Amino acid sequence: MGNTFKNHLTRNTDDVVIVGGGLAGLFCALKLAPRRVTVISAAPLGEGASTAWAQGGIAAAVAEGDSAEAHAADTIAVGAGLVDEAVALGLAREAGDRIRDLLHYGVPFDRDLEGKLAVGREAAHSARRIVHVRGDMAGKAIIAALIEAVRNTPSIGVIEGYLAEALLTEDGAVTGLQLREVADATAKPIIVASRAVVLATGGIGHLYAVTTNPAEARGLGLAIAARAGAVIADPEFVQFHPTAIMVGRDPAPLATEALRGEGATLINDQGERFMQALHPLAELAPRDVVARGVFAEIAAGHGAFLDATIALGPHFAEKFPTVHASCIAAGIDPAKQPIPVAPAAHYHMGGIAVDAHGRTSLKGLWAGGEVSCTGAHGANRLASNSLLEAVVYAARIAEDIAGQTIAAPSRMPTTLVIPRNCAMPPLTEANLRAMMTSHVGVIRDGDRLAEAVRSFADIERDTGNIALRNMATTALLVAASAWTRRESRGAQYRIDHLAEKPALAHRTMTTLAAARDIAASLSDRNPARPAQPVNA
Ligand SMILES: Cc1cc2nc3c(=O)[nH]c(=O)nc-3n(C[C@H](O)[C@H](O)[C@H](O)COP(=O)(O)OP(=O)(O)OC[C@H]3O[C@@H](n4cnc5c(N)ncnc54)[C@H](O)[C@@H]3O)c2cc1C
Repeated sequence: MGNTFKNHLTRNTDDVVIVGGGLAGLFCALKLAPRRVTVISAAPLGEGASTAWAQGGIAAAVAEGDSAEAHAADTIAVGAGLVDEAVALGLAREAGDRIRDLLHYGVPFDRDLEGKLAVGREAAHSARRIVHVRGDMAGKAIIAALIEAVRNTPSIGVIEGYLAEALLTEDGAVTGLQLREVADATAKPIIVASRAVVLATGGIGHLYAVTTNPAEARGLGLAIAARAGAVIADPEFVQFHPTAIMVGRDPAPLATEALRGEGATLINDQGERFMQALHPLAELAPRDVVARGVFAEIAAGHGAFLDATIALGPHFAEKFPTVHASCIAAGIDPAKQPIPVAPAAHYHMGGIAVDAHGRTSLKGLWAGGEVSCTGAHGANRLASNSLLEAVVYAARIAEDIAGQTIAAPSRMPTTLVIPRNCAMPPLTEANLRAMMTSHVGVIRDGDRLAEAVRSFADIERDTGNIALRNMATTALLVAASAWTRRESRGAQYRIDHLAEKPALAHRTMTTLAAARDIAASLSDRNPARPAQPVNA
């Protein structure tokens, strides 16, 4: 990338600047046309976005006999008492219109013989309502159609290969972004001055050592908003997929739940089916129950394996070609051998707190998609509601921005000062990810959460590495809120507080300052104990 382009980037603009090239970012850019928009993406479009990996599809009550009310009721039931009911209903009601938009942008959703949208069923949905593309290709098809639409829209400029590493603000209002070229971490940061920024940077799965999310999903968008003072909602709620395939790949490939639906069983290294003792539905228990069962078996040193040798045997390759290919590439024949599995960080219910228009608590900053927290998911997400939330809120953000006049900032904001010569604390990126998995993962307890809070706070305060500092910022918010919530609810499971407590049936609203205060109080209680990294 030449200097001319870099100079062009350091500029004052009245464009709307959208950070993120997944469903939320691209849909918002398209909805804003013909207004001028600049989309910034860390990875080339089509890569580094969870959207492209979605297999199921989008939840939408479009079939005869289904209703937005029924969809909202299912969403509320799964969210364990924390779903904002008006938000869930709004989401369900707008689903049909947004699916029509996606059809208009060229997404080839599957249809039945009468030409109506074909709908599939997923766990905890009371009706068939998942619109999909060529079976399990929804994500790939959606992203391909939107990229083509974006490339054909002259009002949208795209800058690929740049990471947003800081939000610049003045008097509580956004004035711009600080970017850095991904390919050259030593390059000077670049400033884009803008008074209208939309964060659509996706989730936080890659803060964990075991995850299904791409490397770009490291919580950086959430971190830069939090560092600029934005309110963060429900960060403690992280959904884990129970059966990621453990074949040394990062991110880990998924062994879809449909395998268990076909009769595959979960066994330990003694060949024992451990889920039967834990839930009447055994392998078909709710996702978080299975994730905890798998985690506990691994933690006890017994290993966990998905055995499809009897249920599928020679039919494995034909029925599950993607999973089959992942196993064969790692030297495992799933028709004849059990597949090693572990729970993996999959989806973040929490995020930057937004209102019904996608506005954050900072003037000039909107957030959409997985980086945001609208209140739709509460303590647990209903399957296939995340793509729906991304399109519904991206459209609302575009509508909100379209109604406003946004002038370019009067002067260029300056680069944030980044500490350089301070001592590096002992946590590396790999150790941080390992600590998230072991201390802030599927099964949590107060002592380990406190240790994680102290460690992440040290990094967040001291490191001169800005990417690591942003990762530690988000990790700190997740760990501090998980420590504060002394109950088990939805995806949060505290072994030292097993009951759900009615008095805690409210959403978390927090800030980075509050998380730092929690860390300081924990250090005061335990001053002699240094932060303990775990082995990567
Ligand atoms: C394997 C898998 C399967 C899934 N299946 C489904 C499903 O069937 N149905 C469903 O509803 N949901 C599913 N989900 C969840 C869903 O895919 C995501 O929640 C959704 O795609 C998020 O969209 P997004 O636009 O918010 O983020 P993403 O699609 O993740 O896009 C984020 C973008 O931001 C960029 N970015 C990140 N940080 C920065 C930064 N600092 N600076 C610049 N750019 C940055 C990335 O490069 C990327 O372009 C699945 C997730 C996974 C991982």
